[in-house]
Amino acid sequence: MSTLEIKDLHAQIETENGPKEILKGVSLTINSGEIHAIMGPNGSGKSTLASTIAGHPAYEVTSGSITLDGEDVLEMEVDERARAGLFLAMQYPVEVPGVTMTNFLRTAKTAIDGEAPKLRTWTKEVREAMEKLKIDAEFANRNVNEGFSGGEKKRVEILQMELFKPKVAVLDETDSGLDIDALRVVSEGVNRAHEANGMGTLLITHYTRILNYIKPDVVHVFVDGQVAEQGGPELADELEADGYDRFLNAVRA
Ligand code: ADP
Ligand code: MG
Ligand code: MG
Repeated sequence: MSTLEIKDLHAQIETENGPKEILKGVSLTINSGEIHAIMGPNGSGKSTLASTIAGHPAYEVTSGSITLDGEDVLEMEVDERARAGLFLAMQYPVEVPGVTMTNFLRTAKTAIDGEAPKLRTWTKEVREAMEKLKIDAEFANRNVNEGFSGGEKKRVEILQMELFKPKVAVLDETDSGLDIDALRVVSEGVNRAHEANGMGTLLITHYTRILNYIKPDVVHVFVDGQVAEQGGPELADELEADGYDRFLNAVRA
């Protein structure tokens, strides 16, 4: 049983006009096996939250805390966060020139686990995971994300998540730009990791569409750098029907 706990988190970025606070007191707790959806309008700070959890240097935490099983995540370097069991899928995955998928996956897995996976079982595991995610076998020899389409990058992201077996995954707009088939394949990957490893998931999304495939336990409405409301899956249905206006008006009032 693992817990990612975010408490009254405030974070800012440096702009030409001085510091700008983007996260204004975010609190949420994700336990193993739970799926939390964060939904909010564009510019509300969702990606900033993901980047702050990931340890992106542009975002300065001014107060509050993030802990994983009581360990201070904010004190950890980016690679330590992965070793501690966090998986952060970014909205804009990076290319890694000159490194094949096969080498990248094995190197990353070794770094995360602290030992190299046994080659025979690992090769089989990678192959099977790729098949389930409908990633063509030739991708194993291609350079990471180089020339991958948006949908291919998302599948590869989920491939990493399934292979690395994190305690908690943060998925930022994994659904954006996916056609319906890719959306289903990617969602199945998240559900598999959830069921097989009891992974806790923070699913950040702008649209409710992905929630037809991944059933959240908790829905957080995120507005102006804060959780404006928390509820069950029915909250997502309400957003689908009414949009974010009610929550935006409450913030502006
Ligand atoms: P969301 O993911 O919900 O669309 P973001 O976290 O990307 O929101 O952005 C929240 C706000 O912070 C936006 O107003 C955005 O312009 C601003 N912001 C985020 N990162 C930066 C940055 N590096 N420089 C300037 N503004 C930023
Ligand atoms: Mg506060
Ligand atoms: Mg975003």
